[in-house]
Amino acid sequence: MEIKRLQILNVWVDSVNMARSIEFIKKTLKYGKRPHSIFAVNPEKNFSVPKNPVLYQSFKNADLLIPDGIGVVIAARVLHAVTLSRVPGVELMNNICKVASDEGYSIFIYGSKEEVNLKASEELIRRYPALKIAGRSDGYIKEENMGALITKINDSKADVLFLALGSPKQEEWLAKYKDRLNNIKVCQGIGGTLDTIAGNVKRAPKFWQNLNLEWFYRLIREPKRIKRQKVLPLFLLLVIYNKMRKAGLNHRLF
Ligand code: UDP
Repeated sequence: MEIKRLQILNVWVDSVNMARSIEFIKKTLKYGKRPHSIFAVNPEKNFSVPKNPVLYQSFKNADLLIPDGIGVVIAARVLHAVTLSRVPGVELMNNICKVASDEGYSIFIYGSKEEVNLKASEELIRRYPALKIAGRSDGYIKEENMGALITKINDSKADVLFLALGSPKQEEWLAKYKDRLNNIKVCQGIGGTLDTIAGNVKRAPKFWQNLNLEWFYRLIREPKRIKRQKVLPLFLLLVIYNKMRKAGLNHRLF
């Protein structure tokens, strides 16, 4: 199953939709022999990835890079004439839990504050009563206790690991410890998703999601996100600039 990887300025994204992502995950759960990494691509990553060598390698070698944000979907259309649909990390995590529940795989949830982790786990069990949460841990483990955490993950025999440490912490953690994970086949970096599932951070109502204005809704609710979201217009400007430069170059050549 060949998945096409597109270069988007300084990052990459896989040309997948939700169905294709789930197909990839099912196959990996069945045949995978090592932790396969899944990370979310959004405009912020265009600026953070080139600055951090570990993050860069993690993204370059990732097994699945999902188009998490609308900025990346627009960029793929402008730069490659490819129409992607968003695969929001929070929805993918939810769907992986459904697959795990339906097909008898177990999950381990590592990250966020203990109360958030617990509340999100309870919410996932409410959604999927057959879901096996083989283990979980908050995301504030000291480096000297990391060996014990790895043992806990391995002893749990979980198939899926969700890393909710935020970026770049979760990518750096996986780069450092992936070779010590014995049974994990799928590992998704989920950032602040547990806060959303626990109900501490509200997603936009469907109306806003359908208009591709989820980012705007969240901005109104949490104005401090402006620091993060101001990268979106800059990213789009760079995409257009890049496109025009390429078009200009072709003009001169032909
Ligand atoms: N977090 C953690 N350990 C840390 C730092 C952060 O578990 O040492 C958690 C934090 O509690 C929050 C998530 O990581 O749940 C970060 O969410 P954010 O939205 O900042 O991440 P992003 O989605 O932008 O990567």
